Amino acid sequence: MSPVTSGPLYHRWRTIRSALLWPVFFVRIGTRLYALAGMALVTVCVLSAAALHFVTLAGDTAHDIRRRVQGELMRVSELELLLERHRRIIESAPIELDRDRIVELRARARDIIEEMDVGAHQTRSGPLAAFTDGVPELARQGEATLRLAENFAQAAAIDAVEKYVVHAKSLQNKIALQKFEQLTEVDREVRALVESGVTLTRWVISGSVVALLLIGPFSLVVTRHIVLRLKGMTQTMLQLARNDLSVRISGTRYPDELGDMARALGVFKSNAEALLVYQARIEHLNQRFEFALENMSRGLSMFDAARRLIVCNTHYRELYRLSAQQTAAGTAFETILNERIRVGTGRVGEGEGLPHQPWPMDAPAADQTRDVITLTHALQDGRTIQIAYQPLADGGWVAVHEDITEEHAQDIRIERLAHIDSVTGIANRHAFTAEIERALGSISPQQGLAIHWLDLDRFKEVNDTCGHPVGDTLLQQVATRLCRAVRAGDFVARLGGDEFAVIQRNVSCEADVSPLARRLIATMSQPFDIGDLVVEIGASSGVVIAPTHGRTAEDLIRKADIALYRAKADGRGCPVLYDPVLEASIKSRRRLEADLADAVRTRSFVVHYQPILDLARGEVVTCEALLRWTHPEQGPISPAVFIPIAESAGLIADLGAFVLHRACADAMGWQGDLRVAVNLSAGQFTTGDLLATVRDVLTETGLPATRLELEITETLLLGDEAATIATLDALRTLGVTIALDDFGTGYSSLNYLRRFPVDKIKIDQSFIRDLPNRATCVAIVRSVADLAKTLGMRTVAEGVETNDHLQRVVNAGCDEVQGYLVGRPMPNEALSNAIARARMLSHLVAA
Ligand code: C2E
Ligand code: CA
Ligand code: CA
Repeated sequence: MSPVTSGPLYHRWRTIRSALLWPVFFVRIGTRLYALAGMALVTVCVLSAAALHFVTLAGDTAHDIRRRVQGELMRVSELELLLERHRRIIESAPIELDRDRIVELRARARDIIEEMDVGAHQTRSGPLAAFTDGVPELARQGEATLRLAENFAQAAAIDAVEKYVVHAKSLQNKIALQKFEQLTEVDREVRALVESGVTLTRWVISGSVVALLLIGPFSLVVTRHIVLRLKGMTQTMLQLARNDLSVRISGTRYPDELGDMARALGVFKSNAEALLVYQARIEHLNQRFEFALENMSRGLSMFDAARRLIVCNTHYRELYRLSAQQTAAGTAFETILNERIRVGTGRVGEGEGLPHQPWPMDAPAADQTRDVITLTHALQDGRTIQIAYQPLADGGWVAVHEDITEEHAQDIRIERLAHIDSVTGIANRHAFTAEIERALGSISPQQGLAIHWLDLDRFKEVNDTCGHPVGDTLLQQVATRLCRAVRAGDFVARLGGDEFAVIQRNVSCEADVSPLARRLIATMSQPFDIGDLVVEIGASSGVVIAPTHGRTAEDLIRKADIALYRAKADGRGCPVLYDPVLEASIKSRRRLEADLADAVRTRSFVVHYQPILDLARGEVVTCEALLRWTHPEQGPISPAVFIPIAESAGLIADLGAFVLHRACADAMGWQGDLRVAVNLSAGQFTTGDLLATVRDVLTETGLPATRLELEITETLLLGDEAATIATLDALRTLGVTIALDDFGTGYSSLNYLRRFPVDKIKIDQSFIRDLPNRATCVAIVRSVADLAKTLGMRTVAEGVETNDHLQRVVNAGCDEVQGYLVGRPMPNEALSNAIARARMLSHLVAA
């Protein structure tokens, strides 16, 4: 900025100029243009008048000049006249003989000279210059002549007169010449003055005429091309300002500034159109936003970077019992918190000396992570509010508020329940693990802890046969007894199913844990009175001691499980303390599992057959297929050992299918309608499609279904009853016979007989073995045989080893016998001889 345009003087000038021009801005542009045209007109007139005035002045001046020159010339003429009179006096002097007359002449000549001197001095113009210059000489010569004439020197006087005349004539000529020149000059000047006046007058007149002629059309042009267009544009703008987009913009084709303006208006209009569309969209969005905001099931608040409320919904106000006034846009966050405290919806603790808990951001929000932060606040009125804060990019935040009082209470209940077993009311597995971890934090070798891991025997049978209510009551009584058996400070938990655990404190060695371990088993072995029922179960337990056996909950639990596993394997009813040696047995079991998997893959099994004698027909009618596995290192392993492993390792479906196929294939080579009985595991019912497998095997081997017998056990019947019954029905429809194996070892076997579609009952060998010694066994075998007959089933006595056994089962009414007496399980090739021998045995029975 230059000093000229920035100095105080300049500013003052601008202020004054603005003040002066200000009224102009109240006048419309059209009016201003007309005023300008009018002013131009007036100016032209004034100029014309001034020109005319000046022309008149010039005329007057010329007149004056002429008059002045005429005056001069008059005086010159007077001087010429005086000169002439002087000349005549001087010329007459020589001839005058009267001295007095000469003296008189002399006086007159002097007077004339004096007169001429005065006249010459009055006139300063050109012609008299020569006169003035020549007068003294003229006077001298005239004087000289007069003096000579006075002295009567006539000749000299005549000479002097001649000289005088010459001088006077030259003076007269000079004056005449100068007078003429002067007159010519003046005349020329005056004429020039008059001519320029005339020219000026002509120009002024023609200029005025042209100006007058131009101002009219100019006004028209201004009116039509500027004012009207400006008016049009103003109208257009006003319409646009009223959002009237129907307006047509004219004059856009003109290339002048107004054309630019019109085009700019066009752009403005299209912008306005876009703006209107945008505005409509925004309005629509706003409506939606408001609708969404108001219909949210949660409260919403939005604060800016200055912690002032931008917006909140009704739900928010209701949630904190705030009025619309208290939550006006722009209200400070702290003010709202204070209002909340006032109406009793503040955070617990706030207003009692504790600072407000604002947005979880003591640091500016911009520094916060952009993740949502969820906080749960307890309010003064007892409610619980969950707030999800989302920081905004510009530094504010949005918060969604939800009343979670109900859910919170529920959560607390669930949290409590999460630690309590719903059936027994004692701690659950979760609480148990937590308790171990807590207890492990403060143990020492002298002040250790023991974990007694208990597994109830036969609970499943009670639960399945007597129903869940009985099962639940039993569990409750178990829990009560366990709690009574432990000392104060010990911890009892149900781990799920029929597993319980006790944490015993202040132990250091086996001697400290054994009494409790035995007491726990003993208390479980006592009969339980459940309503009308008296239930006898038992328990196995595995025990670990910390820190002797481990220092972490995970490790201790794993070891307790190993000990329990051994306790169950050893035969129920006695506690087993963990020993690292047990790990070895678990390992060996794992190894066996792997070897078994290999054997299943390579089909390294053989199937032996054991004949079953039909007592009435005196013939072997069925042979039971029994699987044989010879371990590469351990030699033959009993199916009673490896079948459960195959079941738990998920190999049973594959293995079962193999046995079925081999047995059916072998049976195809047997004579007559000799049937083959194949054992099924419960796992074969649950994994894979047993029905399809049986069908496929029968099709592949060509064995008629009527020659196949499938042996199932009661454990199978504990599973999905409906599905099992459906499969058994389908198998029987095929023509397959179903036999219930190991009957009597289950809990309430007779119940099943009514419910399940079974053709045959195989009475477990434990009953047969005890037939000679226990009368109850005789009664049981007999009643089972009777019941079976009533139900249209056949009975098979298993484990018949002696003639005595044979006799007793015959007497008891069994239909078929199986056992070493009839024949041991044998390879397929040996079967025909054994069958022949068995026929001999039938004669023995008959005898
Ligand atoms: P199980 O089905 O009860 O089979 C009868 C068992 O009693 C066989 O034992 C057999 O050798 C044995 N046995 C037969 N007569 C007598 C006798 O007079 N006295 C004595 N003390 N025992 C006798 P094994 O072959 O050791 O089979 C044991 C169990 O393994 C079977 O009991 C059966 O439950 C299971 N098993 C055998 N093969 C298979 C099979 O292919 N599949 C399935 N799922 N289980 C099988
Ligand atoms: Ca069997
Ligand atoms: Ca059996």
